[in-house]
Amino acid sequence: MKKQILIVGGGTAGTMTANNLANKLMPEINRGEVEITMISDSKIHVYRPGAMYVAFHKAAGHEFIRDQRSLLMLEVDFIVDKAVEINAKSNYVKGKSGTKYNYDYLVLATGCEVAADRIPGLQEGGDWFYSYEGAKKLAKKFAALKKGRVLVTVNFPKTPNIPHQCGIAPVETTMMLHDYLTEKGIRDDIEIIYTYPTKSQAVENGLFLQAPTSDVLPMIFDSINVKHKTSFTLAKVDPKTKTAYSEEGEKMEFDILMSTPPFIAAEVIRKSGLSKALDDEGWLPTDKKTLKVKGLDNVYTLGDTVDLSVSKAGGTIHNQVDVLVDNIAAEMRFGYPTESYDGKVIAIAQMGLQCGMPLWYDYEEDVKPTPCSKLGSFVRLGFNKSLYWAAARGML
Ligand SMILES: Cc1cc2nc3c(=O)[nH]c(=O)nc-3n(C[C@H](O)[C@H](O)[C@H](O)COP(=O)(O)OP(=O)(O)OC[C@H]3O[C@@H](n4cnc5c(N)ncnc54)[C@H](O)[C@@H]3O)c2cc1C
Repeated sequence: MKKQILIVGGGTAGTMTANNLANKLMPEINRGEVEITMISDSKIHVYRPGAMYVAFHKAAGHEFIRDQRSLLMLEVDFIVDKAVEINAKSNYVKGKSGTKYNYDYLVLATGCEVAADRIPGLQEGGDWFYSYEGAKKLAKKFAALKKGRVLVTVNFPKTPNIPHQCGIAPVETTMMLHDYLTEKGIRDDIEIIYTYPTKSQAVENGLFLQAPTSDVLPMIFDSINVKHKTSFTLAKVDPKTKTAYSEEGEKMEFDILMSTPPFIAAEVIRKSGLSKALDDEGWLPTDKKTLKVKGLDNVYTLGDTVDLSVSKAGGTIHNQVDVLVDNIAAEMRFGYPTESYDGKVIAIAQMGLQCGMPLWYDYEEDVKPTPCSKLGSFVRLGFNKSLYWAAARGML
């Protein structure tokens, strides 16, 4: 009988998975033995990192959006529907339309979402670049800013050892902000303060979630006159007085609060009963090697939904996809998964508007900071413009 593979979520993880699976299983698809279906709650595909460039007037936003169907191989059935129920006992996912999607193998790739309301006052008083609407709002505020203070804050999930979305983004955007204000000729009139919470992932009282980068950041920030402060865990914001209060008992005034807000998993995952994460955050318990949801033999997950310690980043997904796809194909062909994810993350960080820093790490080794370069930035901007779309199509 025909095997059904169901992918929920048409973002980076779902799209790469669908196309790579279609390529890998082409013989079975051609023989009518396998069907791949994707359901996503949106007919468009958003390249999320593009929002950073919108915040600093380097893009308008539309450049980073495509029609989802156009990114998928013809062998993938695509349906716009919002998953509202996951029934792992009876092997189906229910859509908002009322349709029941049965599966033999399920891939959950619904990403994560901003939950600014989890910090009192942040929704009203803070800004972020983690969505296009947020980035556009921030861009307007930056355009109007002539002098004052930009305060950078970073929030981590309450569940231990889980990162926020794209760990390096607060550093990238702080450096992009410095370059942007310098370009405008107003850098001397604006104070930038980068803060970091007492507890991040592997580091206490640092400036980044891994020690080697945390150790070099003071030197980098000092060289561009960015003030920095450890142990500032954002507790609440007073939007009227534009004051940020920390759990450690400090307060800081700001003109713009550029925050990394709290993140949670998608509603359907949080309500599925599958997660054991704290505070109803919803991260899926994931086998770090096979990428199966723990306790469910035919359900896989990857990307921003997982409870793994690795970065919630496209550079992570790119490495997870090969493992997940090989494992599903091997299960179908041989009856057991064959590949193991080693935690590899490869990306190029945008360290300022003109500088790109290649980075890679895995479960065993932390990121080693390397000098950023114009060539790195050239490759990163090329990735944003075109290489990403090739990767999403499974061509890279
Ligand atoms: C500002 C910013 C900068 C970043 N910078 C970098 C970077 O420099 N390098 C890097 O590697 N990564 C970066 N990232 C992270 C990267 O973009 C994410 O890790 C990646 O997009 C996550 O992919 P995903 O598929 O897990 O989630 P998403 O891409 O968010 O996709 C989730 C999909 O699921 C769909 N969905 C949600 N709920 C449902 C439902 N109930 N039913 C059906 N569909 C549903 C959504 O519509 C969406 O299509 C950045 C992210 C941001 C926001």
